[in-house]
Amino acid sequence: MIKSKLPQVGTTIFTVMSKLAADHKAINLSQGYPGFDCYPYLQDLVTKYMNEGYNQYAPMSGVPALRNRLAKKTLSVYDVDYDQEEEVTIVSGATEALYAAITAVVRPGDEVILLEPAYDSYEPAVRLNGGVPVYVALNIPDFSVDWEKVEKAITPKTRLIMVNTPHNPGGYVWTQNDIDTLADLVRGREIYIVSDDVYEHIVFEGKAHIPLFTHPELRKITFACGSFGKTFHITGWKIGFCLAPKKLSAEFRKIHQFLTFSTVTPIQYALADYMEDPSRYLYLRFFYEEKRDLFCKGLESTGLKFTPAEGSFFQCASYGHLSDESDYDLAVRMAKEVGVACIPTSVFYHDKRDHKILRFCFAKEDNELEKALKLLQSGLF
Ligand code: PMP
Ligand code: GLN
Repeated sequence: MIKSKLPQVGTTIFTVMSKLAADHKAINLSQGYPGFDCYPYLQDLVTKYMNEGYNQYAPMSGVPALRNRLAKKTLSVYDVDYDQEEEVTIVSGATEALYAAITAVVRPGDEVILLEPAYDSYEPAVRLNGGVPVYVALNIPDFSVDWEKVEKAITPKTRLIMVNTPHNPGGYVWTQNDIDTLADLVRGREIYIVSDDVYEHIVFEGKAHIPLFTHPELRKITFACGSFGKTFHITGWKIGFCLAPKKLSAEFRKIHQFLTFSTVTPIQYALADYMEDPSRYLYLRFFYEEKRDLFCKGLESTGLKFTPAEGSFFQCASYGHLSDESDYDLAVRMAKEVGVACIPTSVFYHDKRDHKILRFCFAKEDNELEKALKLLQSGLF
């Protein structure tokens, strides 16, 4: 019998709920992926590069044109300079970036602070590296950070803090005060930061996503992980990136080199061309804000309680005032009986803490959202 290195891990909730949605023909607002296609021009560019013979291994760190494009984008949008040769790496999705960054710094016995609810790929990556997760709960209902709790959780063994802004599932967007407080807490210690910024372009009501690397001290210790999948509606292409200072990038690349070595070539060339026009990623906040508003308006007549998400393409809503049913049971029942699939947020806690909050993905066609809202309005309980 094989002795599992991840005995607690089963199939991810995203796979479970998407299958349940398919089996019961429910509208799938569970797994976070766009319910619409990317722009045809992007597909044309990929086809063009394939037809032109860009079909062999890309350079290990990424195609120079795409690294250059990302460095330029980071400078123009956030006013922070990253060296495209040594500080920008293209990888096969943010999931790889997160894994490689965690692996680069976590040694057996090191403590890693996870702010819960936390995206599901962090903890297994920490454990596979012999790290010890230390859980700190975010405030409910707004998913802001309880800095006193974070301060108490830091010990001489703390090696890494995982950050995710805009937050999945909570939609909270870190403020300058959050960033400054984090910098104060880690100053003078050997602590690194992995910042999961996959929803960087999805922030609402004129708010800004403030990357941690805009803080000069945090820039020196942060791996910023991003995903083209979220930004260009291409989650199935599995392509992402990591921005980190030279020494951290060098270690990151040692891991990336033996995880995947390099990332899909024609797509890198295509993205480099496609990103020439910044409006192709800067418009995203407006595109998704309309969907968030449509969804939230409909949620008002479901009886669920919510505050509109500040960022990401997820909306959380609570039902504890209406029922005692567990969030997991309710989500399963909703997929089967109501015809709408969502994610119970207890799955993002190590102890499956149930705040009776459900997560809905609103990255779907408007008519799908409207259909789902009608079903939710016609009676959840
Ligand atoms: N981090 C978060 C918070 C996510 O929601 C996701 C996926 N939606 C990822 C990382 C993974 O991104 P990718 O698909 O590029 O691996
Ligand atoms: N990140 C997506 C979500 O939160 C799912 C990605 C996956 O299925 N692993 O729904």
